[in-house]
Amino acid sequence: MANFEESFRVQVTKDYLKFSAAHFIAYPGFRERLHGHNYRVSVAAGGALGAQGYVVDFGVVKKIARKLCDRLDERVLVPARSDCMTIEERGTNIVLNYEGDEFLFPSADAILLPIIHSSAEELAQYLAAELETELEAEGIDSLHWIEIGVEESFGQAAVYRRERN
Ligand code: ZN
Repeated sequence: MANFEESFRVQVTKDYLKFSAAHFIAYPGFRERLHGHNYRVSVAAGGALGAQGYVVDFGVVKKIARKLCDRLDERVLVPARSDCMTIEERGTNIVLNYEGDEFLFPSADAILLPIIHSSAEELAQYLAAELETELEAEGIDSLHWIEIGVEESFGQAAVYRRERN
């Protein structure tokens, strides 16, 4: 008689889990031109089946994921930990400087993120950390792992996964 190891995976890939944002990748010696994407976000999680019959309440996951997308929507994504740009507040504006190339945006049009590069990978990592914080605030701390997918164009996505120790 075979023994099986069972697990459940839940996932949320709703049409409204998206955001439109401007960004450019920059690292020492290289900078993309400013451009934008219509990003799509997906969430997956694994865990044990609870007494209610589910791994995690879909409603809670959808609510949080939507809030996280709304936060990034119609913004310039600024990697605040960049290793090649200086980022400073100047009055009500934010100024990015990459090797003398200066970008100035109204602060309300930009969002500073605790990442080094605004790649799909690092955006997914950032979103996963935020999702976990928000889930814990809702009392959900029993998931075994969570995954965030960030698709920056059709068929081109990065997935970040974190597992609980
Ligand atoms: Zn891009």
